[in-house]
Amino acid sequence: MARSIVDIAVAAATKGNASRIVRVNVLAGQLRGIIPAQLIFCFGLMSENTIASGAHLNLEITPLIGRCRKCEEDFPVEDYSYFCPRCQGQDIDIVSGTELRVRDIEAE
Ligand SMILES: [Zn+2]
Repeated sequence: MARSIVDIAVAAATKGNASRIVRVNVLAGQLRGIIPAQLIFCFGLMSENTIASGAHLNLEITPLIGRCRKCEEDFPVEDYSYFCPRCQGQDIDIVSGTELRVRDIEAE
């Protein structure tokens, strides 16, 4: 996981002709069960000897949001209870909370 974040960040920085990555902003869904300290530690190891070495990894945890297919209500999912609070429907799409992506990077 940390490896792919480093790869994506390095690829983006190289494309933009940057020589050093200062900061990597990552969106991590709540459902991913990420332990920030652990990911930041692994990122530090994986980025050694790359242009991302020493970069700050900023993690933004996105909450788990469901959308009811019946009434189209968006609502936060808590304790894995996939029920629409408005109509009690159980036909739910997950619209946020499962992603893991590099939102952007700051490089120089
Ligand atoms: Zn509903």
